[in-house]
Amino acid sequence: MNISMNAVTRRTAMRRTLFLSGGLSLPLPITLRASGFEPFSFIVVSDTHLGRKDNDQAERQWRKTVADLARADGDLVIHLGDVVDGGREEQYAIYLEERAKIGKPVHEIPGNHDPPDLFARHIRPEIDTFLDHKGVRFVLLNNSRTDSHDGFFTESQLGWLDQLLTDAAESGLRILLCIHVPVHPNRHPDRGWFVKPEHGQEKFYEVLDAHHGQVAGVFHGHFHNGIRGWDDRAPAHEVCFPSALYNGKRNLMEQGAPGYNLEEFRPCFTRVTIGTDAIELVCHPIGESEPSESKLWKLVSQLK
Ligand SMILES: [Zn+2]
Repeated sequence: MNISMNAVTRRTAMRRTLFLSGGLSLPLPITLRASGFEPFSFIVVSDTHLGRKDNDQAERQWRKTVADLARADGDLVIHLGDVVDGGREEQYAIYLEERAKIGKPVHEIPGNHDPPDLFARHIRPEIDTFLDHKGVRFVLLNNSRTDSHDGFFTESQLGWLDQLLTDAAESGLRILLCIHVPVHPNRHPDRGWFVKPEHGQEKFYEVLDAHHGQVAGVFHGHFHNGIRGWDDRAPAHEVCFPSALYNGKRNLMEQGAPGYNLEEFRPCFTRVTIGTDAIELVCHPIGESEPSESKLWKLVSQLK
């Protein structure tokens, strides 16, 4: 054991053992452990970047991903943004033609590579929206801009979010927020891309704090670093999901970065199971048609 390990807390050390297993189980707050709740699964896919580098590699990867998603078990699919790369408008038609083969409802949010006008034209006219499914309210919110890697909220978006959360509490719904760019600070050795204080970070957290215990997860794409997240706003976990096209390892855990980063950096989709007392995330590498148990990256232990 080297000297730096002495500074590692028990909780961090425990998490590090979990990284080796490649899956993750996020505890739900007790207030969200509704009696009579029926667990269900859905699929998260992100950062497909169709048209990247003006070749057809991302398109071929999306076809493979769609074949996997069609087979995968899950009620619906959430796409966390960067559908196409660099606003290549002609790629939306290719994306949609393949998407039709998934055979499940698919709900996207734009990323910084999806200009809002193109997203609205090809994917969904009403960009900020929500859907309720089996006791969970999915809030789909655009917080990216094409001219920045950072995230941004407007006053009216945060007001709308506050209203949605108030309404959801009255209806007894759990909340999952889907926004492309994380709000959580993540400076060096991490990407450094997040909603900066002057762009709505503090107000967002004020809304989150006002609804403490109601929000189970804040889900993002954008990072291409496998599953990477933070739980210091627990019970709300803030999680970046892997790209289905490419991911890189930034050695975050080795460098003592806060939060967690699963040791799986192949292109993946993620199966999310909302259980009665935990959210389970399982990475599925794309193209593994018959995933063995070891490739399911399944873990049922909890982080704390
Ligand atoms: Zn992005």
